[in-house]
Amino acid sequence: MSDAVSRLAEVKDAIAKAESGAKRPAGSVALVAVSKTFPVEAIEPVLAAGQRVFGENYVQDAKAKWPELRQRYPDAVVHMIGPLQSNKAKEAVALFDVIETLDRPSLARELQKEIQKAGGTRAPRFLVQVNTGAEPQKGGVLPEEADAFIKACREQYGLAVEGVMCIPPADEPPAPHFALLTTIARRNGLKVISMGMSADYPVAIAMGATHVRVGSAIFGSRG
Ligand SMILES: *Cc1c(COP(=O)(O)O)cnc(C)c1O
Repeated sequence: MSDAVSRLAEVKDAIAKAESGAKRPAGSVALVAVSKTFPVEAIEPVLAAGQRVFGENYVQDAKAKWPELRQRYPDAVVHMIGPLQSNKAKEAVALFDVIETLDRPSLARELQKEIQKAGGTRAPRFLVQVNTGAEPQKGGVLPEEADAFIKACREQYGLAVEGVMCIPPADEPPAPHFALLTTIARRNGLKVISMGMSADYPVAIAMGATHVRVGSAIFGSRG
């Protein structure tokens, strides 16, 4: 058994414990295994062990790996979790099932255009990224702009927005950021809440995460 497969089992156990500790139904939290920078050979055993949902940060990296992996595992679901440039919208629509980093009108417009051009062959789902810590270097809409942007994505751009995601500041306790994201999701009637990474996913589950994005705790250090 590869190290990644045994660590996957540990992460799934920890998710189950956190669900039960928060009195949430077993299986209510989905694991997004973040395979960014890892090669096909590292991802394949995790697919073979039954994991189906993966996260990637870079369009080129995903493009080099997933067409091949999808031939063997057609039911794999790949999330884009990294910053997305508008000029990569076409490739992103072709590659990803879920784009978690929708965060500005210019990107929403490009995605709408590319989905229309694909003529119904591609229908990615979207999460709006919220910059809960208002960090200048980080993507995401500001919390006070989230409601209006979510509404515009749905009504003006016709995008299938299912939820929200955040990456809390690295140097702050994450809990207040998780609480804020859950509040934004609930008041906008959104069911998907993507938050929590290797260092803090049990906290995120206690605070309402429906999806946790876990990389290094499964695949090891990215060096
Ligand atoms: C890399 C990354 C993760 C996974 O981080 P780990 O600490 O390795 O679990 C989750 N979310 C985003 C947006 C990332 O870029």
